[in-house]
Amino acid sequence: MNRRSRISATLCLGFAMLIGLAWAAVLGRTRTVSVGDDVDMLQTRGLLGPIGANVVVVTNAEASLVVDAQLGPLGRRIQKMLNRLGGGPTRYLVNTHWHPDHTGGNESIQVEDEIVAHASVRTRRSGPQEGFSLTKPGSHHDFSPLPGPALPSRFIDQRTILTVGDIAVEVRHFPAAHTDGDLAVYVPSAGVVIVGDLVWPGSFPFIDTPTGGTAAGLAGALDDLVAWVAPGTSVVPGHGDVMSYEEFLDYRQFVHDATEAVGRLRDRGESLGAAQGVGLPQEFERWSSRLVPAEEWIRMVYGSTPDGTN
Ligand SMILES: [Zn+2]
Repeated sequence: MNRRSRISATLCLGFAMLIGLAWAAVLGRTRTVSVGDDVDMLQTRGLLGPIGANVVVVTNAEASLVVDAQLGPLGRRIQKMLNRLGGGPTRYLVNTHWHPDHTGGNESIQVEDEIVAHASVRTRRSGPQEGFSLTKPGSHHDFSPLPGPALPSRFIDQRTILTVGDIAVEVRHFPAAHTDGDLAVYVPSAGVVIVGDLVWPGSFPFIDTPTGGTAAGLAGALDDLVAWVAPGTSVVPGHGDVMSYEEFLDYRQFVHDATEAVGRLRDRGESLGAAQGVGLPQEFERWSSRLVPAEEWIRMVYGSTPDGTN
């Protein structure tokens, strides 16, 4: 190989590596994690950390149920992985709430029966929807609507049971929590509950107050979850790794404590700016994250109705 060929071969290899690194950073790799009998989680990570939301599949030979559909650009990959898992056809796709990292892939998932969600998910994904940017905390982004067939067609505003082969799957709505349209999915036979963004492992929770989330509603939802599921149930959050039941109980206590700590500042008559200046006691420092630092958590609680209604 002459010098010129060596240089172009090196450039080509370098370019291919750059493309590979960019692809890995943007779309990452998706792995399958077993979380219980007949329940798998599809989790995507890139070079810089998790990408999008967890997808959970309840599957057996006769049928499957999928919880959440990832970001739009990852939907086709998720459908390919569902094919590889080899269970029965997807009867139901459940959206835990409207956010695009949970609904963006709806149009790529082949659903036999229905896309199931709270009615507000259909409303919010039927037209342009402004929401928080996931990459730039505090900024906003306009999300484009989903095409008609990718919109939910069956609505849950209390609770219901869906049948997946011989598996009974309970679905329940929690009002005014992370958003105004949160659902959680409980598979008692597997000892698994899938809670979407009602739980943010290792971080202050994210409350989408402009679309009806409230801190008090979220704390109430965590109490209702504890009353609903059996002790020992594994908890699958919308982002991050599966939590044990004990970790979930600790998280619930933390959310109550963190909500009350901000409530005390509000009850004292502090303005939002003054409360952010005072900050929270030292014990809460470890819960600050890139997306929800302490000052953002204080803003979210101040932006919520104190009684968890909207
Ligand atoms: Zn969310």
